[in-house]
Amino acid sequence: MQIIYNTLGRQKQTLTTIDPGVVRMYVCGPTVYDFFHIGNARTFTTFDMVFRWLTTIGYEVNYVRNITDIDDKIIERANANNESMEQLTTRMTAAFFEDADRLKLLRPTHSPRATHHIDHMLAIIRQLEERGMAYQAANGDVYYSVREFVGYGKLSRKNPDELRAGERVAVDSAKRDPLDFVLWKSAKQNEPQWPSTFGGGRPGWHIECSAMCKAVLGEQIDIHGGGMDLQFPHHENEIAQTEGTFEKNSGKQFAKVWMHGAFLNIDSEKMSKSLGNFFTLRDVLNKLDTVQGGETVRYLLLRGHYRSEINYSWDMLEDARQTLLGFYIALKETPPAAINLDWANPYAQKFRVAMEDDFDTPAAFAVLHELRRELNRSKSAETAGLLKALGGTLGFFQDVPAAFVQGATQSVAAQMDVDALVAERNAAKKNKDFARADAIRKELDKAGIVLEDKPGGVTEWRRK
Ligand code: AMP
Ligand code: ZN
Repeated sequence: MQIIYNTLGRQKQTLTTIDPGVVRMYVCGPTVYDFFHIGNARTFTTFDMVFRWLTTIGYEVNYVRNITDIDDKIIERANANNESMEQLTTRMTAAFFEDADRLKLLRPTHSPRATHHIDHMLAIIRQLEERGMAYQAANGDVYYSVREFVGYGKLSRKNPDELRAGERVAVDSAKRDPLDFVLWKSAKQNEPQWPSTFGGGRPGWHIECSAMCKAVLGEQIDIHGGGMDLQFPHHENEIAQTEGTFEKNSGKQFAKVWMHGAFLNIDSEKMSKSLGNFFTLRDVLNKLDTVQGGETVRYLLLRGHYRSEINYSWDMLEDARQTLLGFYIALKETPPAAINLDWANPYAQKFRVAMEDDFDTPAAFAVLHELRRELNRSKSAETAGLLKALGGTLGFFQDVPAAFVQGATQSVAAQMDVDALVAERNAAKKNKDFARADAIRKELDKAGIVLEDKPGGVTEWRRK
């Protein structure tokens, strides 16, 4: 039985799906104007974990994560770069998938692009207009009429009247109500536009998700996810749009469960592009090294519970690397047997109980640590197999252990020829030039490389 914390209702509940055995899940994806930062990476990794886990326990998961390829920031950036919006978004979408692959994010079942669904957006807007829930203002923009939607505020628990009081509206605003939000923006010079019965224009942000979700998954879904910041107004507005098209008083719900991932912070502040306090995933991976970086960042992002904030620092990354290295060294010393995951096994059972309790990854990792200690004691290939299989459900421990351990030193190895230095040291030892042998060992040690002299004169090395 999978338990999930539902933002709508603010409590944990058992997952029951619309179609038995099938999960329809929609997650708000990236806006493709730039490389994504590790704050974004956290949210995407959280839902990759959810996708993998629900699949592991037997659900067929229909997972949609959209690409937002039209918005103000994209238009601005394309203009600044002197390229077309399409050139920019095509390039950045490819970069997004490249980076996501390095983080071992599985490809969603569908990755719709907003600009391919303009007709679906317009269909919803027209439907809302027919029902008196949307109106075209004098300036040509089409707005959602928030007063017409009774449940407005139910997700974010905001009171519309209080929101109105806090809202400052320009005197010349075309809105009837300060809370009304734009569905269709009338065409401006030098901006992309699509024809419509409302005149040329482009969609507002919120309508994209309602439309892509409906087009790919249908009107009602099981799980809707995103980062904490999307609760209001984005998700509140998605509910208003989608449920606004349902029969009045039908009691029908857009999404049964709303999941929101906590932020990744830096110096206790949300990492964000606008604050400028961000590191792109690409930069972090390039700095770490190429072979094991993705799994290291993945570990850093998943070892905290998805509803707890995490504070990012380079030390934490180093720590995550060390921990993973510990697992891989254990798997290198005892090659895992190929096993079928048996959920009756006490470790597997404990792991599953943790994951079924609102995806408690810290508790699940604690089980993996216990298993590793057991493996270091027993050197049992079955235990190694179980460790690999359980870690695998969350996207860990699938690399060749020797390659991973060696890979930990790759970036260093690129700067200095470690193998050549090790050979030179061994030659020096043979010639009883212990001073030289010692000097080389010290030099490597300074670069973070540890040497292990094995029987038979073989020397292995790894990063500290
Ligand atoms: P964006 O590309 O800015 O629309 O964001 C894509 C996703 O990343 C959204 O689900 C955001 O909620 C999420 N996100 C943005 N910043 C952070 C952060 N610092 N920590 C966690 N998630 C974030
Ligand atoms: Zn969205």
